[in-house]
Order: sequence, then C-alpha cells, then structure tokens
Amino acid sequence: MSGKSIRDRHIEDRLKDIQHEVLVAVATGEPLADVMSLLCGRAEEVAPNAICSVLRVDSAGCLRTLAAPSLPDSYSQAIDGIPVGPMTGSCGSAAFYGKAFEAVSIKTDPRWVDYKDLALAIGLKACWSSPIKSHDGRVVGTFAFYFRRARRASTLEKRIVARCVHLCALAIEHWDAQGRIRRLAYTDPLTGLGNRALLAEEFPGILKRADESGREVAVFYVDLNGFRGINAARGHKIGDRLLCAVADRIRTTCGEADLTARLGADEFLIVKTDEEGGHGFDALAAALGEALRERYRLDADIDVKAEASIGIARFPCDGVDLDALMGHADTALGQVKGSGRPGYAFYTARLDAERRARRAFERDVSVAAIAGQLSLVFQPQADAQTRAVKGFEALLRWNHPIHGFVPPAKFIPAAEACGAIEDIGAFVLRQALAQAAKWPKHLRVAVNVSPAQIVHADFAHLVETALAETGVDASRLEIEVTESLFIYDADTALQTLEKLKALGVSVAMDDFGTGYSSLSTLRSFPFDRIKVDRSFIQDMVCNKDAAAIVDTIMGLGRAIGRLVVAEGVETAAQLELLQSQGCNEVQGYLIGKPLPIEHYSHLMSAGGRSGDASGIPTAVA
Ligand code: C2E
Ligand code: CA
Ligand code: CA
Repeated sequence: MSGKSIRDRHIEDRLKDIQHEVLVAVATGEPLADVMSLLCGRAEEVAPNAICSVLRVDSAGCLRTLAAPSLPDSYSQAIDGIPVGPMTGSCGSAAFYGKAFEAVSIKTDPRWVDYKDLALAIGLKACWSSPIKSHDGRVVGTFAFYFRRARRASTLEKRIVARCVHLCALAIEHWDAQGRIRRLAYTDPLTGLGNRALLAEEFPGILKRADESGREVAVFYVDLNGFRGINAARGHKIGDRLLCAVADRIRTTCGEADLTARLGADEFLIVKTDEEGGHGFDALAAALGEALRERYRLDADIDVKAEASIGIARFPCDGVDLDALMGHADTALGQVKGSGRPGYAFYTARLDAERRARRAFERDVSVAAIAGQLSLVFQPQADAQTRAVKGFEALLRWNHPIHGFVPPAKFIPAAEACGAIEDIGAFVLRQALAQAAKWPKHLRVAVNVSPAQIVHADFAHLVETALAETGVDASRLEIEVTESLFIYDADTALQTLEKLKALGVSVAMDDFGTGYSSLSTLRSFPFDRIKVDRSFIQDMVCNKDAAAIVDTIMGLGRAIGRLVVAEGVETAAQLELLQSQGCNEVQGYLIGKPLPIEHYSHLMSAGGRSGDASGIPTAVA
C-alpha cells in the first residue's frame, strides 16, 4: 500500500469516528451550536491548516453564526446578520447560489470587497465555502474552511468538507424537526399561545433567573366572565373566535411577559418578571383588564362583551413553585369573581380561608336541589287601588343543613359562579308552575331568572316544556329579569326574550332604577311590567327626590304603555302615595310577606278572587 493510500485510509477512519461522535451528540439532544462546535474542532484536527466555520441561514435569509471555535468572537459577530446575496463573501454567495464557492484570494476576490478588511485583519487569506442543503434542496447553512494563505483547498480538504456538510445537514434538519415538534407540543392550537406543558417546562427557569437577580415574578390568572353563556348561546365557532381575539389582546398587552398560555376553555395565564423597581404588576393588570373589556366584534352582526377577572400571586412572597403560585392566583381570581365585578386582585393569606369556605359553599349549593333543601315561598302582587291579589312572585329558599336558611342574595351568586344555577333555575320554574297549576286561573306566577339561564340557548324550550308538563297557560307566567342580563350578550338575551313573548309568557324588568342605563334597556324590549326597586319606595315618603323619581317612572310607564309595579311597599303611607301617583300594582310586606303557599290558601278558593292578603299574620320570610 502506498503512503498516500495509507494516509487516505487513516483519514477515512478518522472521518468515520467523527461522524459517529457527531451523530451521538445529535441523538442525545445536544444543542445545535455545541454539536457544530464539536464538528468544527474535529474537522480542524484532520485538516490542520484549515479554520472552520458553520453558519445558518435564518428564515429572513440572513447568515447566523452557529459555530466557529477558532475564529475570534468579534469576527463571528460582524458576520452575524448579513443578508445572503451574490456579493457577500464566500459564504453569502455559496448560500445565494446553492453551490460551493471558492475565494482563492480574499484580498482580490470581487465578492469579498465589502468584507475583506474584516478577514484580512485576522490573517484569513482564502475561503472555501459550501452550502448545506436540507433533503428537499433548501439551503439551510454554509460550511467554510478558511486558510491563512491565498490558495485553493486541496482534494483531501474538499473530501473532508463534503463529509462535514452532510453531517451538518443531518444535524440541522434534526434540530429543526425537534423544534417543530417542541412548538406543537407546547402550543395551544386554537390561539397559538403556550399551553400547560410549556408552563411546566419554562416556569422553573423563570423563577430561577428571577431568584438569582433578586426580582419578583407575578402569575396572572385570567378568566373571562360570561364565556360559558356566549359559547352555549352562539355556538363553539363564535366561542373559539372570541378566545382567539382575547389571545390577541393578551399578546398585544403583555408583549414583554416571560410567558403567555391558555390553560383551559377560557382561562389564561401570564407570567411576568418585574421591571427594576417593581411597580409594574398593578399597571399590567389594569392595562390587561382595560384591553379585554372592549367589546368584541366577532362577525358582521355579532358583537359581544366578555370582561375578565384577574387573580395575581407573586414569587417569592406568595409561593416558590408553580403549584403554590397558581393555587394562590386562583384564590385571588375567585375573590374577584365572587365580588361580582370584573377587575383584579392580589393574593393575600386571608383570601385562602375565604376560598376554602366559598368552595365548600359552592359544593353545597350544587347538591341543594337534589338533596331536597330548596323550597319556594310566594309573595303576593296586588292591584294598587283595590289591593286584590293578581298573582305571586316565587322566591327561592335554601335550608342549609348547617347554616340554616341562607338568603338567595348570598347563594344565587354562588350558584351562578359554579354553574349550578341552571339546575336550580329549572327546579324553581317547574315547582312554581306546579303550584300555579293548582291556583284559580286568574292568578299569575312570577319567576326570577338569572342571566346565565337566559343566555343559554335552550331556556325558551325549557319554559315551553315546563308549561306543557304542568298545563299552565303561558299567559299566567311572568319571567323577571334584571338589567345585568344585557351587559354581556344583549343580542342573545333579546332573542330569548322574544321567544318567551312568542310563547305568550310575559316579561318583567326587575329592580328598575338600579342599573346603569335603565332607560335604554326599556327601549330595547317591550317589557310587560316595570318593577320599581324597593330602595325608591322605602325613601319616597320622606325624600322628595325619591318620590319624584317614582312619579317619573309611573309617567314613563303610562307613556309607553307598560304596567308599573312598586316593590317593597311596607306602609300605608307609601301605598297612599303610590295610589295617588297612579301606580298599577304593589308588592311588599304591607300586602303580604314571602311565605309558603299554604299561608295564602284562603286566596286559592274561587271566592278568594279579590282577597286582601295583608290580613295574614306576619311570619318570618
Ligand atoms: P327580588 O326579585 O327583588 O325579590 C324581592 C326581594 O325583596 C325578596 O327578597 C323579598 O323577600 C324582599 N321583599 C319583598 N317585600 C319586601 C318588603 O316589603 N320589605 C323588604 N325589606 N323586603 C321585601 P329575597 O327573597 O331575599 O330575594 C332576594 C333576591 O334573590 C330577589 O330579589 C331575586 O333577585 C333573587 N332570587 C330569589 N329567588 C330567586 C330565584 O328563584 N332565581 C333567581 N335567579 N333569583 C332569585
Ligand atoms: Ca324579582
Ligand atoms: Ca326586585
């Protein structure tokens, strides 16, 4: 064997070793830059006169240094970011044309005109650069041998380069594929935000860096109010569009965050390390709340509102790991939701105890209907002039096994928050109608309904079925709604109300005067009755303003042809004033308290037609 072929064999063996070593590094998931540095170092061992560099071509078509262990950093930095082009040195040209390019003399080569000073300054005189191509022919990088003499690459050096280029292509493609898989596994497919897996992967690193630099990290737990209703009423496609729009607003508002993710249907999480000084968390929460509050136009004729509640917990004061911080942010979120107003809150230890109590309460309320703890009381509504009873409002009572009677003002919001209101509402409707079925036909029954029930697509159907099951005429049923119904999804609310009207059911506007735009609500739907809130009636005898407001509402009702009911009438003086103002109907302790229906049995006989309910001995409501 000749000396040359022995040397060839030796080099071939070395190249096989290098290939093996590099493939092991790729397979074990070493970072791409490390693998490339390893390859460069080994290539320089077998080609001792060459200085090796590997560049990537990024998605914008610019050169990016991956590895050049024997070149000064200043040179690599100067090359980094140069756009690929026909006149951009050996590497830029090789990438541009997709074929190897040799500058035998950097000093005189026309493609090096703009860059030669950089190279010559560190003694680089020649360069042989080859494109690295993916399996489908795209140029993904370049592999270069620099020389300290103006010369050509030898045949052996070209052979070494050819083997290295092949390995580079493999390593880069593998890395990119891993990256795509990683992105898929860590991305919420609907919104493009991160997901739980990303959170679990990155959160420890975020905390570690913050800890090292002595900074705080805040976890913002965001939940949309009213999403469940919009999704149920409008369908999943619109629900999805809303979530994407929310994600966009989160991205815009929290661009500087360490991480943004969607965790569940309408739950989002933002992780942010504080700025120097650390007053940014309040500002970010406020800005986020503001951004999400704007109405969402989801289609030509679909415009919804979905305000957000935000709970915040901080590292390190509230917890030092993901579970603790998320749990506490969730507690703070519950506090915001429980308050009934959108906004944000920071976790405090006190909230924890409250959360536990609330959770237990919600669990209890979810089973209350099945456990037979719910019942209805009935309060008469009477003609204001004659005091003849015209019907009853059904009011819900919960006899809690430990707490005793819990007022609806306390448990209805809890039932709304945990979704139990749908079952409870259906129970109330059926029970109220079952009672009314036994009453004389001239007596109505009024049922209170929560927004969460009304915006549910099937509510009108539920009413229709309950009427059919009990045989009560639709004209004897009145549904009472409050203005809060129109805040989130006015369109769906109106659609349901129209359907109820079409069935022959009447609709009353409850608590009139307490909402933020009562007049415009009145204009949007032909309510059969307007129920003036108790607070005005309470004050009207000694407060001229309250009396004037009630008088105005009476006039308004007459003008637009609606009946007006005064709520909370407790004294004869109030009744007299209301009579003089032309009030149509009254309801309140003066006429009768909310009581089990047996207390009003004297009105249920045929002769009880014009009964005065106030003769009933008062009992605890
Ligand atoms: P609301 O619909 O405005 O009901 C009237 C409330 O005023 C009742 O309180 C009633 O007991 C009270 N009230 C009636 N007359 C007088 C009076 O002369 N003086 C005073 N001081 N109070 C009087 P309640 O039963 O505690 O109900 C509170 C609220 O809970 C109701 O307000 C209603 O919004 C809600 N609610 C009650 N039952 C249901 C239900 O079945 N479903 C839903 N979604 N909400 C309900
Ligand atoms: Ca009511
Ligand atoms: Ca009311």
